[in-house]
Amino acid sequence: MNQIASPNPAAVRAGASDGLGPAESLPEAAVSIRGLRKLYKATGKGESKLALTGIDLDIPRGSLFGLLGPNGAGKSTLINIMAGLVNKTDGTVRLWGNDIDTATRMARASIGIVPQELNIDPFFTPQELLDLQAGLYGVPKAERITAELLQAVGLADKAKAYARTLSGGMRRRLMVAKAMVHRPPILVLDEPTAGVDVELRQSLWAHVRELNAAGTTVLLTTHYLEEAEELCDRIAIINHGALVAHDTTDNLLSRLDNKTLTIRAEAPVATVPEALVRLGMERLGEDLLVLRYAPSQVKLSDVLAALGDAGIGIADLSTEETDLEDIFLQLTRGGA
Ligand code: ADP
Ligand code: MG
Repeated sequence: MNQIASPNPAAVRAGASDGLGPAESLPEAAVSIRGLRKLYKATGKGESKLALTGIDLDIPRGSLFGLLGPNGAGKSTLINIMAGLVNKTDGTVRLWGNDIDTATRMARASIGIVPQELNIDPFFTPQELLDLQAGLYGVPKAERITAELLQAVGLADKAKAYARTLSGGMRRRLMVAKAMVHRPPILVLDEPTAGVDVELRQSLWAHVRELNAAGTTVLLTTHYLEEAEELCDRIAIINHGALVAHDTTDNLLSRLDNKTLTIRAEAPVATVPEALVRLGMERLGEDLLVLRYAPSQVKLSDVLAALGDAGIGIADLSTEETDLEDIFLQLTRGGA
């Protein structure tokens, strides 16, 4: 597994050559995007659509990066521009240091893409499909790693089965293997687990983690927060073709230093006591008080003491943590 999973950066020279040795010339950013815009022109059927509004994004080498956003946000457009399937309107994209316009071949060689749509020819076996793909990428027979790849994605025993007999999850994993035949240092997965059941999702995640641990930079798009949170070390959030957040997963989660306290008072509360107004408490109903607070700043015991001082008895109390879902909603609500 480790052997094949290791990307082969030597096979893909970094474009940003600075005269240093091979190790030093590895790019800081596996993917570097500046001012990326995509305008889909109006056709007979549809109106024109500005799908990417000017994206700047660096994806650090070695990261497991999540591009998170709702349907229609522009995720596939961005991926498909990297893959050379969609022409950008403006901006630059460098893959492993190679500009997709001026170093197209090296850029292509540095990336493996698992597209959102599964398109597997049902009349080939996994082994044949991988050999074919390796041929397309000009990988000499002696350097092919078909068996190892199938092993890595848990399909060794299906090497000679017709693809049409594979389950959805197996096909998805076969697509991952197919994207890796030329051992690219960057693997991109567009919505890898859409339509995949929970168990297969876990196994796909495990394979992706292993590939990343072995050195492959992984970019995945998803509209599942859970997936990004669970899998990725960095997350960028995209909405309406613009980035609305980009940070480490830990930092994004620490922005969630945010809890909601709901209190039902024993008796109607006419006005919220001044001490509690200062903390941000609001009155939602005649006996209902709500406070959004940062647990790192405000102690719950102080809040309860202030309530006691004001003579407000508590009939019921609940607290609720803000999760990534809330942040996501806050960040993506605007401009809908
Ligand atoms: P996502 O992958 O985040 O769901 P897409 O990149 O597929 O988003 O789409 C972004 C926007 O661009 C959507 O509004 C979509 O309808 C539009 N779009 C995507 N592909 C085309 C196309 N070929 N022609 C016109 N509009 C498109
Ligand atoms: Mg998409």
